[in-house]
Amino acid sequence: MSVTIVWFWNDLRVSDNPALYHAAKRGRVLPVFIYAEDIGVRKLGSVKKWWLYKSLVSLNETLKKYGVGLVIRTGFDTVSVLKELVREVKADAVYWNRRFDPTMVARDERVKKELISLGVKVECFDSFLLHDPNEILTSTGKPYAVFTPFWKRLRKDVNVPRPLPSPERIQGVGVRVRSEKLEDLGFLPEFKRCESLEEFWKVSEDAARERLRRFVTSSLEGYERDRDFPYLDGTSLISPYLASGLISPRQVWYEVIGASEGKSSKGVEAFLRSLAWREFSYHLLYHNPSMLEKSVKSIFERFPWRLEKSEFYERWTAGLTGIPIIDAGMRQLRKVGWMHNRVRMIVASWFTKNLLFHWKLGEEWFWDTLVDADIANNVQNWQWVAGCGIDPVPFFRVFNPILQSRKFDPKGVYIKKWLPELEKFPSEYVHEPWKAPLPVLKRAGVELGKDYPLPMIPVEESGRTALELYKRLRKD
Ligand SMILES: Cc1cc2nc3c(=O)[nH]c(=O)nc-3n(C[C@H](O)[C@H](O)[C@H](O)COP(=O)(O)OP(=O)(O)OC[C@H]3O[C@@H](n4cnc5c(N)ncnc54)[C@H](O)[C@@H]3O)c2cc1C
Repeated sequence: MSVTIVWFWNDLRVSDNPALYHAAKRGRVLPVFIYAEDIGVRKLGSVKKWWLYKSLVSLNETLKKYGVGLVIRTGFDTVSVLKELVREVKADAVYWNRRFDPTMVARDERVKKELISLGVKVECFDSFLLHDPNEILTSTGKPYAVFTPFWKRLRKDVNVPRPLPSPERIQGVGVRVRSEKLEDLGFLPEFKRCESLEEFWKVSEDAARERLRRFVTSSLEGYERDRDFPYLDGTSLISPYLASGLISPRQVWYEVIGASEGKSSKGVEAFLRSLAWREFSYHLLYHNPSMLEKSVKSIFERFPWRLEKSEFYERWTAGLTGIPIIDAGMRQLRKVGWMHNRVRMIVASWFTKNLLFHWKLGEEWFWDTLVDADIANNVQNWQWVAGCGIDPVPFFRVFNPILQSRKFDPKGVYIKKWLPELEKFPSEYVHEPWKAPLPVLKRAGVELGKDYPLPMIPVEESGRTALELYKRLRKD
């Protein structure tokens, strides 16, 4: 009987998992997770490790219901581990779902070649994206570089396949296969913030479906209106599940489209458009792998970014900048490993255009602290906000965090949730506590500089400095 190894990575689910589904139809199956040195572009962030640990526990439990367990292996390079497993279980095929991180693409190609040269059948399936970056190209055969035409094309021409069901049964390989202990991978001990993450997130395939359903029933209709307001429960929070593949984008796509019958479809279209940003990020990264390291607009390679992790950097990461909307975002990130998209834009703009830090330093901090850390989305968005990416916010558009705060959190509900020290502030002053008269500060029980910091740098002036530097750069 045929034996297929199913190599899991960012597809940690049983439903709509084409590699697993087709392997189960073919014969015996060995599900494997490999944590090797060559995992890709960079090491996993510490919060992502926590998420991965939980996801793997859950996947293992689900697989056990089928009577098979997840085999965990570590090693120096993935192909050696796979070759060893092929020998051990006499596998004649290895299946996986395609990955689109450029360093993984290169690694996976090497793995494929080596396995094929040993006479092992290799099949790779699509489920991580809705589109194939090689196939969706402009009329001149080039990759897209602007979001709106990309989105129009995706919406019109891409026939998103229906999600596959979970396999009816999975037959194990019938021999005992050594598995390393998940606890030994070192995913948990490095991390001290588990408690607040545990409180906030349920990590499993079922939890992903449940969260999506809840969003579809309660918030989808108002998504277009509410998604920019961080104090509302207006977005899906599905990003970490998508990033680790506890849910597939096509499952999300069809659940959302299915909900539009009889309802206003504005929310649906706005949501699908958001989901298409994930596609666009991968499209861009796939065709421009150097954007992982370099600003796409090469002029920014000469910009005098700050590269030192100075005290300003530390205060930004700690949520102690003295600008409440920024501090609220950074504390939300610290506590639950997630931040609202609008606030991500505000904190990233402040970091790059007011503090003038290189976008890569911010990107790396997000990478280490987000549960939804995703290489394409993170790099693309950081470059977009910093003004140096493809189709970005122009550099001269410097967000004013105070105006953003007044507009998107007018009563300071979001700010007060994450900055309890400002709880008693009247909404008039909560966006700029340093402008509050002494009696207001007294009533709020806040001594600036002691209970809450003064702004680290002047808001408007620092924005102007960035513009001056940019103008000078263009003249050179
Ligand atoms: C500086 C910065 C860094 C970011 N880093 C990441 C990251 O590492 N991982 C990540 O998944 N997202 C990242 N984003 C994009 C976005 O903030 C999150 O995807 C979104 O906040 C997730 O919340 P949600 O699932 O409730 O989103 P919803 O609004 O419910 O959107 C649904 C899905 O659409 C996709 N999506 C929405 N907005 C974007 C966007 N701007 N770019 C790409 N995809 C999008 C996500 O997959 C999201 O889960 C970043 C944004 C910024 C500004």
